[in-house]
Amino acid sequence: MSNIIINNKFLILRRIVQVSILLLFIASNKFALKILDGNLSSAKVLDSFYMADPYMVLQILASGFVVAIDTLLGGLIILVFYSLIGGRSFCSWVCPVNIITDTANWLRKKLKMYKEDVKIPVKRNMRYWILALSIILSAIFGVAAFELISPVSMIHRGIIFGMGVGWAAILLVFFFDLFVLQNGFCGYVCPLGAFYSLINKISLFKVKHIKDKCTACNKCLIVCPEKQVLVNIINIKDSQIFGSECTNCGRCIDVCDDASLKFSIIKYKNINK
Ligand code: SF4
Ligand code: SF4
Repeated sequence: MSNIIINNKFLILRRIVQVSILLLFIASNKFALKILDGNLSSAKVLDSFYMADPYMVLQILASGFVVAIDTLLGGLIILVFYSLIGGRSFCSWVCPVNIITDTANWLRKKLKMYKEDVKIPVKRNMRYWILALSIILSAIFGVAAFELISPVSMIHRGIIFGMGVGWAAILLVFFFDLFVLQNGFCGYVCPLGAFYSLINKISLFKVKHIKDKCTACNKCLIVCPEKQVLVNIINIKDSQIFGSECTNCGRCIDVCDDASLKFSIIKYKNINK
């Protein structure tokens, strides 16, 4: 039993964090426990200051609407936090969609649908084009374009305030990842994940690979939802994972029996070695 916990420690920890954040939002809505009040787009913390989704703020600014100073500062807090510390960890430690996509991926493996079945000709950088398009459309139509159709917002609001279209969003993402494209929504489509990938570049907190310990079993490559960040590093060199799409999920660390992967703080003087 203890081995199961140790081999899944970051997965378990992530689920605890994801569910706790959801429970705090629900508690605020149902029981007026004002620790996290609002939703992932904009939330009041401890009834005193705001945190806001910086990508949502960017879309509102592009749309030409005035953003309240509280929301602007809230967006800045999150932007600085993920830029410097969290990287793209919003995706794996906070976003509720991650639970759905991980479940679809798990089911894919159970059903032995191992291959990354690209049934539509798309590349992973499509999400960056969707990100750019969402800003352009926000500017043209004067609305926060992605917010109107964001499964992340629909599902999160559905969990807190009651499901409606939230169910449709859950099923859409789940079946897309299960039958169309492995890790499809997060890996190819979601502009919010792409936004956090962009600011992940300078994040201090990264996974590190230690070559001498690596036996090239490739277990990390099997579980990683963004394999491209590992391929040029595993069993090749000592390096932090600088690929900006790494979600800091820690799954690669969980499955590595050789202890050749670990979380570490980036040392800038070693970057160019
Ligand atoms: S890519 Fe988008 S949907 Fe997927 S976990 Fe990140 S923010 Fe959530
Ligand atoms: S490299 Fe590791 S931490 Fe980064 S996404 Fe892949 S499995 Fe998760």
